[in-house]
Amino acid sequence: MVYRGTWAEIDLDNIAHNIKVIKELTNKNIFAVVKANGYGLGDDFISEVALYNGASYLAVATLEEGISLRLKNFSCPILILGYIDPEHINVAKENNLTVTVPSLLWVYEAVKYDLSDLKVHIKIDTGMNRIGIKDEEDVKESFCILNNSDVIVEGIYSHLACADVEDNVFTNKQYNRFKKITESLNYDFDYIHILNSDGSINYDNDEISNSIRLGIGMLGISSYDINLKPAFSLYTKIANIKKISTGEFVGYGASYIAKEDEFIATLPIGYADGWKRGNQGRYCFINGVKCEFVGRICMDQSMVKVPEEFPIGTIVELIGPNISVEDVAKDLNTISYEIFTSISNRVNKIYKKEKR
Ligand SMILES: *Cc1c(COP(=O)(O)O)cnc(C)c1O
Repeated sequence: MVYRGTWAEIDLDNIAHNIKVIKELTNKNIFAVVKANGYGLGDDFISEVALYNGASYLAVATLEEGISLRLKNFSCPILILGYIDPEHINVAKENNLTVTVPSLLWVYEAVKYDLSDLKVHIKIDTGMNRIGIKDEEDVKESFCILNNSDVIVEGIYSHLACADVEDNVFTNKQYNRFKKITESLNYDFDYIHILNSDGSINYDNDEISNSIRLGIGMLGISSYDINLKPAFSLYTKIANIKKISTGEFVGYGASYIAKEDEFIATLPIGYADGWKRGNQGRYCFINGVKCEFVGRICMDQSMVKVPEEFPIGTIVELIGPNISVEDVAKDLNTISYEIFTSISNRVNKIYKKEKR
């Protein structure tokens, strides 16, 4: 049951639209990246829409996330993008999860276990210096060991560090390195992939890969000007309203002092919902009026200065038609990814879907 008047709306039709736009643009297999519970918005709902609209593979960060999708009855292939300890390879196999080969050392460890029917994608580090095999000889050795074992070497991939920047020299460098190493193996991989959302939208020199890994683009976010639709909005309702006099304070630390007699509305949303303390001094929209958050954001509540005595229950837009996720991210000095993934479980999620 939903009792609290604080909710997020996730527009599944817009997610479907975004996937179709990007699929048409790239014409490659789509791995729908639904790690971290689908960027906090619900991995089950997003996976379902993605698979229905052209994705053929899911990707998550951890074994736990992969197992969780299996428990939710997703039977499609699922790739674990992060590191898994070789001693957990049996768990990946039991759940039919494809794993990432992160290093040559990992391969040395992995061959100590039963690898029959394990599916792997080899990760090449082309300059990001995160996980992945960097040295060309190490890639060759890893590939040979795995290809001569019972492992199914299904894919090879890399990750771009600067896909959000147009005509980037470093992106070209990374891509060329990936191409060179992949071609040197002279092997017919089922899946070859290096592009994330922004890479898929912007990087059009890619001849080698046949797949993309699509995450934030599904949610309508891109650094590039492309016809994507926002999929997320956040609302609450006024829970309390009072008139305070000049010189009165608001909230913890008494950090706000009223310069005149004014109305203060209390909203049932706080930093434990993902509405970060940095929102103090920012704004929301109530009945089309821009209203400032005054006083510190509390764990479960926050206060805004309003121009008149709005009725209890009046709807408040925190993210929506007037305030984009990008606006919030910019004001809080972060990126949209962090805004999405900060939205906590306590926020009720309403999934909107009119089209099939
Ligand atoms: C998260 C992630 C993605 C998805 O990136 P977006 O920018 O959200 O499209 C792709 N590949 C890897 C390795 C990732 O970790």
